[in-house]
Parts: sequence; C-alpha cells; structure tokens
Amino acid sequence: MTDIAEAVRTERLLKRFGNQVAVGGVDLVVPRGSFAGLVGPNGAGKTTTLSMVTGLLRPDGGVVRIDGLDVWRDPVAVKARIGVLPEGLRLFERLSGRELLSYNGQLRGIPRAEVEQRAEDLLRIMDLAESADKLVVDYSTGMRKKIGLAAALLHNPRVLFLDEPFEGVDPVSANTLVEVLRRYTASGATVVFSSHVMELVERLCDWVSVMSRGQIVAQGPLDEVRAGRSLNEAFLGLVGAGGEGEGEEGLSWLGATSA
Ligand code: ATP
Repeated sequence: MTDIAEAVRTERLLKRFGNQVAVGGVDLVVPRGSFAGLVGPNGAGKTTTLSMVTGLLRPDGGVVRIDGLDVWRDPVAVKARIGVLPEGLRLFERLSGRELLSYNGQLRGIPRAEVEQRAEDLLRIMDLAESADKLVVDYSTGMRKKIGLAAALLHNPRVLFLDEPFEGVDPVSANTLVEVLRRYTASGATVVFSSHVMELVERLCDWVSVMSRGQIVAQGPLDEVRAGRSLNEAFLGLVGAGGEGEGEEGLSWLGATSA
C-alpha cells in the first residue's frame, strides 16, 4: 500500500532510448514536506526520471505516484497538484512576464482577480516587477528561470519539481529563489530539484537521492547520505570517481607548447 506521507514514490521506473537504458528500475522516494535534491553526474538519468515523474515522458515500465495518485492513470488530478520548472524551459516568448502569468492562471481555472493578485505578489518577490511588461523573449537566462518558477507556483501546487533551477541565476536572484522555496516548504509543500551543485544541495536539502547510470545509489535524509563527510565527498565515493588525475590520460597535448 502507498504511504501517503510520501509526496513522490516511483516503483521500478524504467526508460530505454533504443538499446540504452536511461533509467533502469528506479525507486525514488520523497517524503512530504521535504526539500529534496536529486543529484548525479551528467547522463545519470535525472532529467529522464523527472520527466516521467511529472507526466511529460511516458515510462517503459514501472509506476509513479504523487500524493498516492498514479501520475499516468490520473494525470488531471496529479497535474493540479504539481508545479514544474523543466529543463530547457520553453515559454511563450511574445507575451510579457505579466501576460504569461495571467495566461497560466486562466489555463489553471483560477478566477481573474485572484490571478492578478498572485501575479503581482510573485513578480514583486522575484524582483521582476520592473520587467513585468517586457516581452519574455527579451528576458535574460536568470529572469526566464524566475518567471518560469513564478508560473510553476501560481496555482499553489503541493509538490514542485525543478530541473536545475539555479543554472544561470546570479547569487542575489538565487537567494531570492531560495527564500521563496524555503517559505513554500515551511507551509508543508514539497520541493524536488535536480542539481550538480553539491554545496547548494547540502545547504538547502533535508533529503537526497543520488543517481548514477540510471540507478538510485543512495537515498535518505541528508545526514544519513553524507555520513559524516561532505556531500561532495560522499557523492564522489558513491558515483565511483577514482583518485586524482583519473580520466586525464591522453591529454598530454593540452597546455603543451605547440611546435
Ligand atoms: P545532465 O546532468 O547532464 O542533465 P541527466 O542526469 O539529467 O544528465 P538524462 O538527460 O536523463 O541525464 O540522460 C540519461 C541518459 O539518457 C543519457 O545517456 C542520455 O544520453 C540519454 N537520453 C536522454 N534523453 C534522450 C533522448 N531523447 N534520446 C536518446 N537518449 C536520451
């Protein structure tokens, strides 16, 4: 039986691309109310997993449950509960930031006056008020992340999925995002985000899932996973990075003075 104290649970989640197994039977667990980090080296299967968990990519096998609901059997109920900031976020470029939020709110069926109020709050808190009437096409990378996050939060989802939310975001804006997300989890909501930045995961997360080669290699409370080491050391141990200099063979030409 599914424990509904869990915001997310996958069972034997599987995805192949041709002969390659991108996600090889993953049991991802995220307790409700956690600030959870999904970490792993390039190509580990994080984006593929998050895409299947959020209903964007159909699994080849396995089950995904959010708040106990099967994502692929009950997609409408699940999508009302979740917010997603996907990798390679595509936005409606010819709308202004404010219009984008307003459009999202209307798609979600939120009354117009409520959408306007929430959009104003989010634009202010994301420090986008001055750019609210600028077209999204003219936004910087960090501004796009922020308006994407605002759009994902507008319907007050219970579980928020963020794929590399801090990439391209300056430190001041990153702090703003962190504050918003902390406030959000303090209310009992759950955040799941993928990242390569261990220091950030260590600072923010109370729960960590480590992926390597399409498998979960460690999962649990942050302190359990890092077991007295820094998360970075634990991570390098888990994903099998060897001693110094590994992988550098064959680069003798690099930095050598050319003839
Ligand atoms: P990164 O940290 O680099 O973003 P990731 O952990 O998110 O990596 P995925 O993008 O999930 O990794 O990729 C997992 C594996 O599946 C990789 O080997 C990748 O090449 C492969 N893959 C992902 N999407 C596709 C696709 N659409 N077609 C073919 N192979 C894919």
